[in-house]
Amino acid sequence: MAITNAYLAGVLETVKKRNAGEPEFIQAVTEVLESLQPVVERRPDLVEAGVIDRLVEPERQIIFRVPWVDDNGKVQVNRGFRVQYNSAIGPYKGGLRLHPSVYIGIIKFLGFEQVFKNSLTTLPMGGGKGGSDFDPKGKSDGEVMRFCQSFMTELCKHIGPDCDVPAGDIGTGAREIGYMFGQYKRIRNEFTGVLTGKGLTYGGSLARTEATGYGLCYFTDEMLKANGESFKNKTVVISGSGNVAIYATQKATELGAKVVALSDSNGYIFDKNGIDLACVKQLKEVERKRIKEYVTTHADAEYHEGCKGIWSIPCDIALPCATQNEIDKESAELLVKNNCIAVAEGANMPSTPEAIEVYLNNGILYGPAKAANAGGVATSGLEMSQNSERLSWTFEEVDGKLHDIMKSIFKSCDEAAKEYGMEGNYMAGANIAGFLKVAEAMKAQGCV
Ligand code: NDP
Repeated sequence: MAITNAYLAGVLETVKKRNAGEPEFIQAVTEVLESLQPVVERRPDLVEAGVIDRLVEPERQIIFRVPWVDDNGKVQVNRGFRVQYNSAIGPYKGGLRLHPSVYIGIIKFLGFEQVFKNSLTTLPMGGGKGGSDFDPKGKSDGEVMRFCQSFMTELCKHIGPDCDVPAGDIGTGAREIGYMFGQYKRIRNEFTGVLTGKGLTYGGSLARTEATGYGLCYFTDEMLKANGESFKNKTVVISGSGNVAIYATQKATELGAKVVALSDSNGYIFDKNGIDLACVKQLKEVERKRIKEYVTTHADAEYHEGCKGIWSIPCDIALPCATQNEIDKESAELLVKNNCIAVAEGANMPSTPEAIEVYLNNGILYGPAKAANAGGVATSGLEMSQNSERLSWTFEEVDGKLHDIMKSIFKSCDEAAKEYGMEGNYMAGANIAGFLKVAEAMKAQGCV
């Protein structure tokens, strides 16, 4: 979809000039601006208030040095980031990504997406994101701890339970959150809910580990049901084998589907009998091994090098749960050829704009990331509530609230799409519904 509205075309021009060299950020902004065309026509007051001009610029960007000492006694230096993107509807909230590909453009795109996602959850959370180009893979526990402590030594000056509450993302799981929480507590001398995704013994919420994957399946289930379909007896392909992919596999299986493939950054496994999730959990969560080890204990399964081939496996439902831009036009066309009926995104921005066009032009139901994977941050919001109350809710209570939130997110996307004349386009619906709440708050708070 091209931008024909002159005002929005001008905003995008400025964004491209100001953020040259950050293609992921420009991609994320372009998608949202395209969806907002019917909104600016109906809401000149929001244009007048400069809401969109302000939204495409983060409130604050922090970049810092992270020095740490490796197991050989050698000093290593990484770069740390925190983008406090928008605080119109609540404290900044969003994960910390630890991956060698991290640079400011990735963190800005993730922070931008987070603003709309958090708005869709109905909880009072602004958007933020952070991380580092540190690679936890192949590092000892001691090295990861020293990195996390150094990272938090600087980050703790900028965050707090009523200001900015980070969480996990790629490369940041329970181990890393634990080390960071310990360091925050040591420096600030306060025990507060400053991070989410914490361990259950020190303020974590039941069901937070499962939340993004479960929430993805709850959203997908709503989308399927609204179109006369369900997970029952469907074949599902899921990319990744981390936190989101593992719990999406679990919930999709519980809902009656058969998940036949998973991947990591080296390659993918195909098991026509259905993935043995207990084995994957042991390999990835306990032993931190590569996914290819799966075939050593499953004679019927195949391993293939390279990630992209996973989308050539025939499936009814595809759930990309690894990383950005992992499905391109060619992969999307393969999904269409193999009669896939739905794609829902566990990862952030896993489909290129060309792939999305292929889904929409071929009637594939498309659940965009900022709606479909919002269950993680929603449950982080529930963890913040429990921390403030100094209470812990049961697994069933948290899971029940998560399920209700995902149903309500689908409803908002569906209704906004209909209201703005794009029925069935849940991407436009998510962008519009997420935007409107933040925009109203920004307008009400004046030019800040
Ligand atoms: P994990 O680190 O637990 O797992 C990431 C998985 O994706 C691993 O299997 C990893 O393989 C694979 N992967 C990472 N980078 C690449 C790459 N460049 N190419 C191919 N595969 C890759 O992360 P999560 O499961 O937490 O996150 C996955 C996605 O979900 C991310 O996009 C994240 O932003 C998004 N997300 C996560 C939420 C959460 O609550 N955790 C919430 C909302 C969104 P390998 O081990 O080889 O690196």
